[in-house]
Amino acid sequence: MSTTTAAPATRPYLSYVYAYPHKTAYRPLAGRPALRELWAAERKDALSLYLHIPFCEVRCGFCNLFTRIGAPDELTTRYLDALDRQATAVREALGDEEPVRFAAAAFGGGTPTFLTAAELERLCDIAEKRMGAELRSVPLSVETSPSTATADRLAVLADRGTTRISIGVQSFVEAEARAAVRPQRRADVEAALDRIRDARIPVLNIDLIYGIDGQTEDSWRASLDAALGWRPEELYLYPLYVRPLTGLGRLDADGGASADAAWDEQRLRLYRAGRDHLLAHGYEQVSMRMFRRADAPRTDGPDDYACQTDGMIGLGCGARSYTTKLHYSFDYAVEMREVRAIIDGYAATEDFSRAEVGRYVDGDEARRRHLLQSVLQAEGLRLADYRERFGTSPADDFPLDLARFEARGWLDASAGASGLLRLSPEGLAHSDALGPELFSPDVRAAMAAYELK
Ligand code: SF4
Repeated sequence: MSTTTAAPATRPYLSYVYAYPHKTAYRPLAGRPALRELWAAERKDALSLYLHIPFCEVRCGFCNLFTRIGAPDELTTRYLDALDRQATAVREALGDEEPVRFAAAAFGGGTPTFLTAAELERLCDIAEKRMGAELRSVPLSVETSPSTATADRLAVLADRGTTRISIGVQSFVEAEARAAVRPQRRADVEAALDRIRDARIPVLNIDLIYGIDGQTEDSWRASLDAALGWRPEELYLYPLYVRPLTGLGRLDADGGASADAAWDEQRLRLYRAGRDHLLAHGYEQVSMRMFRRADAPRTDGPDDYACQTDGMIGLGCGARSYTTKLHYSFDYAVEMREVRAIIDGYAATEDFSRAEVGRYVDGDEARRRHLLQSVLQAEGLRLADYRERFGTSPADDFPLDLARFEARGWLDASAGASGLLRLSPEGLAHSDALGPELFSPDVRAAMAAYELK
């Protein structure tokens, strides 16, 4: 089954595989399938709901998410109107022949708290009244930023049942925040965290970034300690993905190779230092990026939602939806003008009854997705689950890939005895190299063709 022929990985940071296939592998769907037909035979009693808010106050230098700065001409109102229309159409398409129930919900972005408190109320109403999600009874995760985590917005979110709030701090060192193109005052960040703790939302996640120009092990540990001072239930440590234009980037005489190597070395060193620091402070590692305080309450939201088969309903212009066979969304872009045009197009859309852009994920692709999503979790892939779903083992389906990973020391040789396929600590450290190597030739070709556009 395995046809992956990637060259041995030479670099540890190729891409963050948070969903497979990537949206750059999506294409306009022939015949624009009707949602009603797509969802007719699907189980709908444990769906995930995701609402995408594509607005931010600033554009961070490291960010490649689907978002725009600001919302002129009452764009947030028009966007929420469109979300309302989409939610109505999607709920209708799900039908009432079988029970429709949501087991988890999330508001992501962009920055959902770019919306005002009143607009957040409306967003919750759309999730509850249009879609039927019982927000106060299921895990609800919301992303925020230091400047938009205001007391009035947090009060709405807490009241409507938010169980997890995730804030992008990136660095508590002001010079590093500036270098990552997100100027912020430490005092403002601390004040936002104070307001979040006052709101008594059960789980606080703090995002931090390593690999910033000028960041040292000492300054990284200082950021980690500042975060630990808030006793966050979760911490995400992200490697920076946009090479700094100064410092490391200045070593560019050989076309960037030595600068890249120095940057890779810095990121791997800071990753290991950060991981070890958190493990020594009572956190357990969930994936390369995610750490959870060992005594924290468990609220299994979409971010750590490891279930492979339940459906996902995404609302908003950048959200994906998943049936068992098709992943779909709207058009995708990274360039600012294109992003703005797609958001404007979404806000003006009247007919949301069909899937527009997507990719079928069945057969070999479903096995790859299962393998990728499980093996990149620290606890690994349960071989019995894989066999139950596909009738085979990963070793049957991906012998060459697994042999290559084993030769590089990326697999935990002792895990098989417990019925698991699990990465070694070094394998986990190289998640962003290992993941992309498991992409199918078709998906790679589609992604490469997209990048040429
Ligand atoms: S606030 Fe978040 S979504 Fe917005 S630009 Fe910064 S990193 Fe990206």
